[in-house]
Amino acid sequence: MKKVAVIGAGVGGLAVAIRLARMGYAVSVYEQASHAGGKLNESRMGAYRFDRGPSLFTMPELLDELLDPELRIAYRKLELVTRYFYEDGTRLNAYADQQRFARELKAKLGVPVQAVTRYLQKAAQLYRITAPIFIFNSLHRLSGLLSWSNLRRAMQLPQIQAFTTLHRKNQAAFNDPRLVQLFDRFATYNGSNPYQAPATLQVIAHLEHNQGAYFPDRGMYAIAEALQQQAEKLGVKFHFNTPVQRVAPGDRATKIVQVGGQQIAYDLVVSDVDVRYFYDSLLQDGAHRKPRRKEEPSSSALIFYWGMDGVYDQLDLHNLFFSADYEAEFDCLFRQKTISNDPTVYVYVSNKMTGSDAPPGAENWFVMVNAPVDEGQDWERLKLQTRARIVEKLERMLNCEIESRIVCEELLDPQGIEQLSSSVGGAIYGTSSNSLWSAFRRHPNHRKTMPGLYFVGGSVHPGGGIPLCLSSAKIVADWIGEKEEGHD
Ligand SMILES: Cc1cc2nc3c(=O)[nH]c(=O)nc-3n(C[C@H](O)[C@H](O)[C@H](O)COP(=O)(O)OP(=O)(O)OC[C@H]3O[C@@H](n4cnc5c(N)ncnc54)[C@H](O)[C@@H]3O)c2cc1C
Repeated sequence: MKKVAVIGAGVGGLAVAIRLARMGYAVSVYEQASHAGGKLNESRMGAYRFDRGPSLFTMPELLDELLDPELRIAYRKLELVTRYFYEDGTRLNAYADQQRFARELKAKLGVPVQAVTRYLQKAAQLYRITAPIFIFNSLHRLSGLLSWSNLRRAMQLPQIQAFTTLHRKNQAAFNDPRLVQLFDRFATYNGSNPYQAPATLQVIAHLEHNQGAYFPDRGMYAIAEALQQQAEKLGVKFHFNTPVQRVAPGDRATKIVQVGGQQIAYDLVVSDVDVRYFYDSLLQDGAHRKPRRKEEPSSSALIFYWGMDGVYDQLDLHNLFFSADYEAEFDCLFRQKTISNDPTVYVYVSNKMTGSDAPPGAENWFVMVNAPVDEGQDWERLKLQTRARIVEKLERMLNCEIESRIVCEELLDPQGIEQLSSSVGGAIYGTSSNSLWSAFRRHPNHRKTMPGLYFVGGSVHPGGGIPLCLSSAKIVADWIGEKEEGHD
């Protein structure tokens, strides 16, 4: 039986371990932390439970297809995806149902229903053209790309709006700046800047508004638990608290050096760690040249986890409080590398759905603002300043007391995200999509010059976020099947 080592038990690492175990490999997962999940994590403070990383669950079918029926998690489709709050007092409910959402936008903003439905239909069309090429296939493995259906799709690539930005596209589609801001926001779903990222990212609106957003009944961490259980059921061996120190590629066999200096030979190694960290810290010196181009990292985040004494009826599961000047906010993030004085604030309250994540009469708030990756900024000052601005903004926009109702608190900053996952600078989604070429420049799942070594997870193709990490695992397993086993 061939032996595979997976480095990292993040979503991508867990998913690839499951797929390779099903293909008959003996799989060992090495994880530096005491538990699985990586960025998909949870914490508890007294009677409060918090999802620490992802909060939005899309494309659940990619999870279902990995799990045996008895291990599948229960989840619900959200009727109301996000509640939006604007500085001018406007409040919008982004309903999953397209017609209902369009009616809400007509009633509150006077936007014609057709403008919204046309926009979402275009997003669906973009998804049909791009997903099979950019999400579910490797851009670097010709056999996967060269099917008749993909060649037909490739003919349609001029329609994917790669030569304009998402913001310009949204401005052309809608007259109301509030709606432009709402659809610009989707660039942040992979840590990008809507004023630079190609309009192709309009597809993200399709995932949320046409396909739907979901919520696991037991919260987001249930996803990591289910993946781990499935892997264990298939015989995958987990080594927690076991950081890999070195990977030394050989001709066919690849050795890894484990903690304590012990060297173990494997037939294949799959890395689920941030690919920049992999080249800088794990790959044996001089063994292989790292890719020359340095892509712009995605944004990071500053998150406050607040146990609140009180129930806030104005809030739903996902809530977004927009800044007054979105462009200035992104200029701060990506050019000035700081947090804006008026950041857009995202508040996620999982106990609105689970009930059990906070004591009776209380709520668990996950309060997040986008932040630049760590480049040695004065985080102590930024954290204090940003916290004060968030409290002031939420108290003003919700017209209620917040500061005095925070009964317990934790915080995660870009340095903390790097510690948690080894993602360089605390980038949440690997590299950003801030250029036309980002999708092509993202690190491949395999390089011909590195036999036996594969890459999954959010820092490599097709990119960050749970669904794309799950997709990367399928691409890697298919590639291994073809290359190592000779399957088509
Ligand atoms: C605050 C936040 C909010 C997010 N929101 C969403 C969301 O709403 N929806 C969504 O879909 N996605 C979201 N994401 C992104 C999503 O969490 C990630 O894209 C995904 O979880 C990354 O998985 P991964 O496979 O790349 O592994 P990672 O999560 O990066 O895990 C890598 C693992 O490798 C381990 N490791 C590192 N170095 C070593 C070593 N030397 N030896 C052994 N183990 C090692 C780490 O401990 C870690 O467990 C969010 C992320 C964050 C941080």
